[in-house]
Amino acid sequence: MFKHLSSLSPDPILGLLASYRADENPHKIDLGVGVYKDESGHTGVLQAVKEAETRLLQSEETKAYIGPAGTVGFNRAMQELILGADHPALAANRVRSAQTPGGCGALRVLAEFVNRAEPGATIWVSDPTWANHVPLLGNAGLQIKTYPYYDRASSSLRFEAMVEALSEVGRGDLVLLHACCHNPCGADLSRDQWRQLAQMAQKQGFTPFIDMAYQGFGEGLADDAWGLRLMAESVDEMLVAASCSKNFGLYRERVGLAMVVYGDAASADRGQSQLLNVVRGNYSMPPSHGAAIVESILSDAGLRANWEEELTEMRERINGLRLGLVENLAAAGASGDFSFIQRQKGMFSFLGITPEQVQRLQQEYSIYMVDSSRISIAGLSQSNMEYFCRAVASIL
Ligand code: PMP
Repeated sequence: MFKHLSSLSPDPILGLLASYRADENPHKIDLGVGVYKDESGHTGVLQAVKEAETRLLQSEETKAYIGPAGTVGFNRAMQELILGADHPALAANRVRSAQTPGGCGALRVLAEFVNRAEPGATIWVSDPTWANHVPLLGNAGLQIKTYPYYDRASSSLRFEAMVEALSEVGRGDLVLLHACCHNPCGADLSRDQWRQLAQMAQKQGFTPFIDMAYQGFGEGLADDAWGLRLMAESVDEMLVAASCSKNFGLYRERVGLAMVVYGDAASADRGQSQLLNVVRGNYSMPPSHGAAIVESILSDAGLRANWEEELTEMRERINGLRLGLVENLAAAGASGDFSFIQRQKGMFSFLGITPEQVQRLQQEYSIYMVDSSRISIAGLSQSNMEYFCRAVASIL
């Protein structure tokens, strides 16, 4: 049965990580993998998570199944974190959701759910977008088309071209938007641009599908959800895939939320029965542990305050590194304008160099990034910043 299977080439990021690990240069830098790292290069467990986990271990009385939707408490707390507790869609009882294994689980469950409602529907994704969007959405049966989003030559958004490409998109199609901290380019929509897209969705009837994997990593918990919240006020129907991997540092615990905003409460109940049936026919029920930690943090004032402080620290470190990068590149005499790095948000930016220059950085300086020159900002630190900037200046 399996003899005819050909082997697929490994994920380029995993290949990069293997080369990085094998490299013996003490100055080596990994800017490939998309996980947050602290100043010492470590991806630690948040204190609030440790504390919630300790309490959970003491209070947990059963390991029985939690059901396809996950717990009511987690769902409610996450809906409020994403939409804001007083959002009109919540007040109108038009929102339903399910706890999922990570943001990836949410994307896949929602894609299968859409495919039931509108088989083979077209979903428009940004060019570029996170590479895994394509299999997660496409393997569920959706057709993928792209809209222009980022211009690598000028390191800026192509908003006019985006609007033009989406101007004919109507009812039955979906448009995937990154809520904040766009992966891979770091360039986010302004509030005016969100307003314009919300009006287009309202007028043309396409369904927004919002991926929020970095809430709190850009400007803050509420600011990062501003566009998403506006969109949910503007349209009848909308989908959100949220991840707790980055903002709670719960990567391997696999925690996310698949959320749907419906036109009315009756459609919401019918839709939720379909969504849960998708889950049942897939992984049946989500894992409990990570989501129980999130529920505990969000529902306890003290833990929540600690978590928000830790989240602020991660965000400020990234924004500080962005500023440091711009200043140090200039100080190292790097040719070109890198000020866009400071204006962008979240874990990633494209440095904007060629694949050949990326190779030189790796070979000559043991600096590792993917060929597109996407860098994971948190891989930088005060101690490697100067080395990095001098290396970049030398290959430009
Ligand atoms: N969407 C985007 C844009 C992402 O970058 C990620 C994580 N890299 C995810 C979704 C999902 O992450 P996870 O499944 O680990 O929660």
